[in-house]
Amino acid sequence: MSEAHSGEHHHETEPYAALRTKALESLLVEKGLVSSDAIDALVQAYEQDIGPLNGAKVVARAWVDPAYKQRLIVKGTEAIAELGFGGSQGAEIVVLENTPAVHNMVVCTLCSCYPWPVLGLPPTWYKSHAYRARAVIEPRAVLRELGLALDDSVEVRVWDSTADVRYMVLPRRPKGSEGLAEAELASLVSRDSMIGVAEAGPPSGVGQ
Ligand code: FE
Repeated sequence: MSEAHSGEHHHETEPYAALRTKALESLLVEKGLVSSDAIDALVQAYEQDIGPLNGAKVVARAWVDPAYKQRLIVKGTEAIAELGFGGSQGAEIVVLENTPAVHNMVVCTLCSCYPWPVLGLPPTWYKSHAYRARAVIEPRAVLRELGLALDDSVEVRVWDSTADVRYMVLPRRPKGSEGLAEAELASLVSRDSMIGVAEAGPPSGVGQ
């Protein structure tokens, strides 16, 4: 799978990319084109606001609209673009549906490839060596440590992201959410549930 990592996003170029980003930021600030505060605000928006909220809207739409869900599973990038999200510079987004029998989990073993148009910036743990190494070797143990205990009967599939293909998990719709509207459903969808290290949360007041 590692061969799929190619071009500019190869893991060996990651420190270079970080350096380059810093250099560009310094230049922009120095030229008075942007302020550091503006950049910090942008980063924060991608981590907390723009980011996972987009994915949550995609998931909620899929839960209420079977035809949309079908399109999402077959052609993720296009279905996501229908809701106005995209711009991943050529990277394709593949959506993996969790079922009672199959649980999907996403990692980038070599660096930190991530479906940022739907999830924003990756959390620190996603980029950690421990997660990247262990997710493929002992996914069940990693999931357990992150608080997700899966029944032995559930098959765990681990997907290794690349520069060309980014994965997003479509979590299962929580029990007790039958009567909820799309916007309320979206609020149940955490970032972690779309990486596949958690379930979508139950509606408040409903135990699982
Ligand atoms: Fe990567």
